[in-house]
This record gives sequence, structure tokens and C-alpha cells, in this order.
Amino acid sequence: MKPLDMIKLASKTTLILGCENTQPERVMIIEDDKALAAHCQTVLETAGMKVATLDKPEHLFESISEFNPELVLMDLCLPNVTGAELAALLTQTERWAQLPVIYLSGESSSALRNQALLRGGDAFLEKPVDKKLLVSLCQARIRRLRELDRTRNLDSLTGLLKHGSIKEALQMQWQLTQRRPQIFSVVMLDIDHFKAVNDTYGHAVGDLVIAAVGTLLRQHFRTTDTLGRYGGEEFTLVLPDCDVSQAEQQVNRLREDFGAIKFRADSKAFSCTISAGVADNKQFLTDSADELLNRADKALYDAKDGGRNRVVSAKL
Ligand code: GH3
Ligand code: MG
Ligand code: MG
Ligand code: MG
Repeated sequence: MKPLDMIKLASKTTLILGCENTQPERVMIIEDDKALAAHCQTVLETAGMKVATLDKPEHLFESISEFNPELVLMDLCLPNVTGAELAALLTQTERWAQLPVIYLSGESSSALRNQALLRGGDAFLEKPVDKKLLVSLCQARIRRLRELDRTRNLDSLTGLLKHGSIKEALQMQWQLTQRRPQIFSVVMLDIDHFKAVNDTYGHAVGDLVIAAVGTLLRQHFRTTDTLGRYGGEEFTLVLPDCDVSQAEQQVNRLREDFGAIKFRADSKAFSCTISAGVADNKQFLTDSADELLNRADKALYDAKDGGRNRVVSAKL
């Protein structure tokens, strides 16, 4: 509706663009019939998917961890093991319990099929495999799963990661740098005197201000940066390949742009400011991920103590 609320418009547009399934679907084929595996691989790759094949079930967990599939096509009869046993094994691990498994089966008995479904796995695809069915089955399953994942991990107001997911992303970044050294920064960010916004203009307007921070964050940072709503009016950022002074610079730009926004409520215009604390892993080599986050949080409190509307980096 006109008059257009630019902040809302930008936020909605970014959210809709973010919904697009742009990444190729990742499918792993576990099948000892190499010709059939190659055939399925070609069909799926032609449809734009990424495919890995595995014919030696003993390397299951290695391959699966490396490829990170979104769906498995599982032959029911494999050497020394059945597909149903492998599917059961997957459901017993925390990491792979939710992974969809579609069995590829020949003329097995219905008792065997029922048993296979009860042990794990979601559906059957008959051999010889129907090309079109194979493609749409894989695509449909993976897209629904992605949509589910998105709504589970994303905060609906800002489109940023929820509390648990941003903390998980920080842990993953920290673990990555234990294996391969890389600099990264952690930022804690908080809207100043936000309670007054709620008290003066109401919660709905407060929500709009929170959403504006989300939109601005997505515009200011790279797609490789991880952005989350830590809770309430607090945000957490994980910025790879970015040291504390670069992070401070970036967040300061965001701070200035946010401060320049004129919000409107009850025909009155008002603006808000933010404060932030920043720490990087180079300064605090022995810190855990949680300790780094605490450093950024402490720096945020220093920013508040120092008068707000500022960015402070963690001191050694
Ligand atoms: P400071 O500058 O020290 O950060 O002061 P502040 O008023 O921003 O901080 P305080 O922690 O006192 O208040 C934060 C307020 O944010 C309190 C809470 O009601 C409000 N809040 C938390 N989540 C939401 C939300 O989703 N929507 C709205 N509108 N308000 C929220
Ligand atoms: Mg076989
Ligand atoms: Mg606040
Ligand atoms: Mg707060």
C-alpha cells in the first residue's frame, strides 16, 4: 500500500529473494550396480543437481560427512549389508537422523519393503528407475526440507538466524579455524534505549525498528558473513576473514546509516542509535567460541557505559 514504507519494502524483497532455491540439490547414490548408479547420476546432474556415488558401504560416514547430502538414494541389496541396515544406522546418529532416504528396489517382497521402511527411509523407487519420477521425487523432497530448515532457523521478524543457529554458526566457525587458521570477528550489537521506543510508540513500531536493523545488516555485510538475532533487540554477527579493526569499521558504517533513518509514528519522526562490541580470534588465541562472544558482549557494555551510539573493540 502507498505511501510506501521503504524499510518494510526492502525487508520483504530481501526475504523473498532469499527464498529462492539457488543452490543445486545434493544427492548421494549408494548402489553397487555401477551402471545403474551412473545412469541415475547423469539423470540428476542433467536436472541441475550435484551427485556423489558410493558403492562401498563401509565408507558411508566418511563420504556422507564430506559430501553433506540432502537426500540419499539407497540400493536395498548391497554387498554384506542391506540398504535398510544402513538407513537404520543413519537414523541412530544425531547428525543424519533427519536425512531423507529413498530406496531403490527391484522385485523385493512387500514384507521386506515394510521392514525396510520401519527401520528407516521414506519411500521406494522401483527399478528400472523412471527418469522423470526420480528427478521430481528428489527435487520435491529437498525443496520441502530446505523450506522447513529455513523457517526453523530463521527469525521471522528480521530474516536473520535465530539464537540457537547463530551460536551454532559461531561454534562451526571456531572449529573450522582450529583445523585451518583463519581470522574472524564476533560482534554483539544492541539498539540504544529501545524500551523508550516501545513505551512511546508501541510494540508494533518497535518491531519495525528491529526489522530495520535486520534489513540494514543484510545490506551491509557479505553473504559469507553470518548474521543472527541473539534475542530481543540484540544481534550477533560472525565475520570471517575480518579482523577487529575491519569489523569495527564495517559496524561503524552500519551504525551511521542506521542513525540516519527517520522512522515515522503518529505523524512524528524519530531516529534510533545502536551500540556494538567487537572481538576477533587473533587477539584471543586461546579463547573458546563462547569466551569470544563474552568478550564482544563485554565490549558492548563498555560502549553503553561510554555513552552509547558507538562501537568498542575488546581490550586485551
Ligand atoms: P540500552 O540502551 O541499555 O540497551 O537500553 P534498552 O532500553 O534498549 O534496553 P532494555 O534491555 O532495558 O530494553 C530492551 C527492550 O526490548 C525490552 C523489551 O520489552 C524489548 N523487546 C524485546 N524483544 C522485543 C520485540 O521482539 N519487539 C519489541 N517491540 N520489543 C522487544
Ligand atoms: Mg545391489
Ligand atoms: Mg538496548
Ligand atoms: Mg538489550
